[in-house]
Amino acid sequence: MRQNIVAGNWKMNKTLQEGVALASELNKILATKTLNCGVVIGVPAIHITEVVKAVDAKKIGVAAQNCANKESGAYTGEISAAMVKSTGAAYVILGHSERREYYGETNQTLKEKTDLALANGLTPIFCIGEVLKEREANKQNQVVKTQIEEALFHLSADAFAKIVLAYEPVWAIGTGKVASPEQAQEIHAYIRSVVANKYGNDVANNTSILYGGSCKPSNAKELFAKADVDGGLIGGAALNAEDFVGIIDAF
Ligand code: PEP
Repeated sequence: MRQNIVAGNWKMNKTLQEGVALASELNKILATKTLNCGVVIGVPAIHITEVVKAVDAKKIGVAAQNCANKESGAYTGEISAAMVKSTGAAYVILGHSERREYYGETNQTLKEKTDLALANGLTPIFCIGEVLKEREANKQNQVVKTQIEEALFHLSADAFAKIVLAYEPVWAIGTGKVASPEQAQEIHAYIRSVVANKYGNDVANNTSILYGGSCKPSNAKELFAKADVDGGLIGGAALNAEDFVGIIDAF
């Protein structure tokens, strides 16, 4: 059966020293707990090596927040999936709405990134979600379906089974506006049906679908209680250990 996961996305926050301190604090707290979900922290690429050393890999997985859509070569400033893997990260967040919006990532480039992530043994945490205008026009289902189809449906069932999906309504990211548990359940169930139509019920039922968008300790329990919400991708509340652990404790 699918795994429940709470994944943090630190975005472009924390110096190396601050990041290691936060990872160490989290590690210390989680060492005292029996976890009922997987825990992942998505840290700046330059922090990964040190953060991996600071945490117990049995309890905390480390993610990059992006990787290149090229294997290697003359792509100044880019970081390949092989490089990410070589630092000890096990996951990579792909297709975050901020990368789609500010760095022009398309379903086509994300398809290439996904292939390279999988080829290098990384688990993609693949983000999908609609903007406010699309939600207001009731187009959210079509938007997420197209994002999945164009970036992921070329994969074999075995390859797709390695993907973690994160549904993140863009209007809820960093805004304090959270999707209601019912809204989240409705679209998560729809996403699972899209996966089932392509790959069958077994793959769909084993796919973890995380919710992201202003998830906090105060609303996580209600969201995670929904049948098709398998955890969260957490931005702001992942930046301090107390809030992040409060969300982990929702399971
Ligand atoms: C995110 O950036 O993935 C996110 C969900 O951010 P926040 O929790 O701050 O809304």
